[in-house]
Amino acid sequence: MRIVLNDVTKEFAGRGSKQGKTVKAVDHFSAEIPDGVLVALLGPSGCGKSTTLNIICGLETPTSGTVFFDDTDVTHMPVENRGVGMVLQHYALYPMMTAQNNILFPLENLKGKNKLTKPEMLDRVQTVAKLVQIEDLLDRKPKELSGGQQQRVAIARALVKMPKVLLLDEPLSNLDARLRIQTREEIRRIQRETGITTIFVTHDQDEAMSISDFIIVMDHGVIQQIGEPQEVYDKPENLFVAKFLGTPQINIFNGVIREKKLWIGSDPVMDVEGMDEGKEVFVAIRPEGLVPNPDGTFKCSVQSVEVLGRDISVVFQHEESTEPKLRAIVSSEFGLERMTQEMSFSILPSKIHLFDKETQKRIAWESIQ
Ligand code: ADP
Ligand code: MG
Repeated sequence: MRIVLNDVTKEFAGRGSKQGKTVKAVDHFSAEIPDGVLVALLGPSGCGKSTTLNIICGLETPTSGTVFFDDTDVTHMPVENRGVGMVLQHYALYPMMTAQNNILFPLENLKGKNKLTKPEMLDRVQTVAKLVQIEDLLDRKPKELSGGQQQRVAIARALVKMPKVLLLDEPLSNLDARLRIQTREEIRRIQRETGITTIFVTHDQDEAMSISDFIIVMDHGVIQQIGEPQEVYDKPENLFVAKFLGTPQINIFNGVIREKKLWIGSDPVMDVEGMDEGKEVFVAIRPEGLVPNPDGTFKCSVQSVEVLGRDISVVFQHEESTEPKLRAIVSSEFGLERMTQEMSFSILPSKIHLFDKETQKRIAWESIQ
């Protein structure tokens, strides 16, 4: 199923400190999600991810704009007619029911021509239980299951009606780190096996990058960028996206163009072509783009060194940055003994991004190296 959102806006009456005002939870959101893909809806808490998902499934009606499933306008269609399976952000299994009965539950409410016989229902439960690998756990009640197993039951329950669309709202948030990775790989596998168009909501950029075909990055209800994970990481369209993707976070400096060079403070770090003389910019440099080099033109004062196993994280400060801690990720082969208080780096051109100081939008530039 292809999902299309056309200029969708959702306003709520403000609560608490925003009493009397309207909150735009989703702001002119337009996107097309092709059939059979897994897309991540990524953004910080409160940016409108759940509201967008609720509009797609029918729990909320947009203030303006339309939602299409293939060629059908579903904007005002009730939830139960949309054929979506959903795992809500704060889902709950029925505590008194076994896993099997939890999964069966949505089928028992089917009416009319969709109604299934008991053997048909049990057959469906077996199929989805197998898919999420909980066949042996069907007789257990939720409290007898681990967090990860409960999560699988919730996914099985969302899948049992064989939906054409699967919506997952932060489905891994109550799992520990190792289980999160395992379960996200499982979700990817299930999505590939079933080919169900899936929207996966998360505030975790790592999660979004690792499992999705493409990412929609949101902030304050507004789409910031849509693209394949690598593309969004390599070519952030604005400062927000640059900062939101990547761990450790990208380093931001004040820079200026003078005599066809990009300067950070008193260091000429890069030759550039086609930019206005005297233009001030934000310079964003990925931690892996800083390469220790005694002849490098970019100098900084090292604060500390963190050993990460495969890599070393060099923590440094720079007077042209507002961030108190900046980082370079260096191969552990580089050797700690060569780290001094003052270090020089060269910068990989592909890891450096320039943004306009006012609009915070990406500036196209050419390196002449
Ligand atoms: P996210 O899922 O990205 O954390 P939400 O979609 O839940 O964000 O919320 C987006 C914004 O809309 C927030 O400011 C939130 O407080 C507000 N909001 C969400 N639902 C309601 C509601 N039912 N009434 C009023 N404000 C709401
Ligand atoms: Mg949410």
